[in-house]
Amino acid sequence: MADTSYLDWPFLEPRHKELALSLDRWAHEHIDDSPHGRGRETDDACVNLVRTLGAANWIRYAVGGQDWGGSAETIDTRAICLIRETLARHCGLADFAFAMQGLGSGAITLDGSDGQKRNYLPRVVAGTAVAAFALSEPDAGSDVGAMSCAAHPDGDGYVLNGEKTWISNGGIADFYVVFARTGEAPGVRGISAFIVDADTPGLEIAERIEVIAPHPLARLRFNDCRIPGKQRLGAAGQGFKLAMRTLDIFRTSVAAAALGFARRALDEAVQRATARKMFGHTLADFQLTQAKLADMAAAIDAAALLVYRAAWLRDQGRTVTKEAAMAKMVATESAQQVIDAAVQIFGGLGVVSEVPVERLYRDIRALRIYEGATEVQKLIIARELLKDGATGSRP
Ligand SMILES: Cc1cc2nc3c(=O)[nH]c(=O)nc-3n(C[C@H](O)[C@H](O)[C@H](O)COP(=O)(O)OP(=O)(O)OC[C@H]3O[C@@H](n4cnc5c(N)ncnc54)[C@H](O)[C@@H]3O)c2cc1C
Repeated sequence: MADTSYLDWPFLEPRHKELALSLDRWAHEHIDDSPHGRGRETDDACVNLVRTLGAANWIRYAVGGQDWGGSAETIDTRAICLIRETLARHCGLADFAFAMQGLGSGAITLDGSDGQKRNYLPRVVAGTAVAAFALSEPDAGSDVGAMSCAAHPDGDGYVLNGEKTWISNGGIADFYVVFARTGEAPGVRGISAFIVDADTPGLEIAERIEVIAPHPLARLRFNDCRIPGKQRLGAAGQGFKLAMRTLDIFRTSVAAAALGFARRALDEAVQRATARKMFGHTLADFQLTQAKLADMAAAIDAAALLVYRAAWLRDQGRTVTKEAAMAKMVATESAQQVIDAAVQIFGGLGVVSEVPVERLYRDIRALRIYEGATEVQKLIIARELLKDGATGSRP
């Protein structure tokens, strides 16, 4: 771990520092950062990472409720940010495995009945059940309200029909939290959430999707899929709010993962710049290189301040709509630039398949799109600003 001074920032408590340092030590020993291949190899690597993280007791931080194995009654945002940042620095797939256990079970932590929590959360924490969150559809991505997947009441349950796509852990998940139109009211007030077990008849993996940073991803199809009423999460018609509350917890942690990727890129760049000999000097001796490194370091600290401000505010019980959007926008966009600069410092070596900076270059890209693309974060920030009116800075 290169620079740990940010762990002493006032946003964090001593227990957070201890958590980050002990996870870093553990990751050095237990996380294999070699390439995880594609397709089946990635699936196996991801399942193994979930099992390993669960067995080592790290996933409990992504789940709320001590009765069900969670580390605390509510999710500690600073803890999940530090865990994601640390895992992302070591291995993108390890961060993904941890994050999806949280995102995929978040709606159960927030609104599940005791029976649902008992049935799913301990297995999520132990890493014996892989979780997934199924909100997006082919024609409803940024515009979630355009969702068409529908669950019609039928006897004591529902019949689910439609498609979901871009579903992380699709194909390896043991259960999916699925959001579907139930029609209590028009638009987003007529959506409910359901826990759908992977072996439910009528649920089909319609397509496996290969992406630039390989991880399990799929399009799901529901054909007259019968869901018992006890699998509905929370009240009917409240599913959209539940999806947004779940994303609210984890949005800041996406920014933290971007921060981890950027920190790794800077570490790699410093090592390379100080080792690479050219023109009778090292690459780091040149001021153009120093300017790049300075920009990278400043961008990382600026992103870190936004991440841990949002996480700290959330842990104080404050609304962080604007702050989380700022953190996600700045951390993901600036990480892309930091990583690009690292690739440049590596020269030809930077674009060789599977060298760390090349992998980071691919790892970071999707973070600017999912859980609200950068453009969506800008709209959120502007909406909050305009709602607040004057900023108070005018004389
Ligand atoms: C790797 C990966 C993993 C994912 N995992 C999951 C998952 O586990 N579960 C899940 O439900 N979904 C998941 N998603 C889906 C993700 O949330 C969507 O891709 C995202 O919401 C964008 O939707 P879309 O792809 O349909 O793009 P679109 O909605 O078509 O948007 C395309 C682009 O339009 C721009 N844009 C959006 N809104 C505006 C606007 N108002 N004004 C101007 N420009 C705008 C943005 O640049 C955006 O990227 C994942 C996606 C990826 C890439």
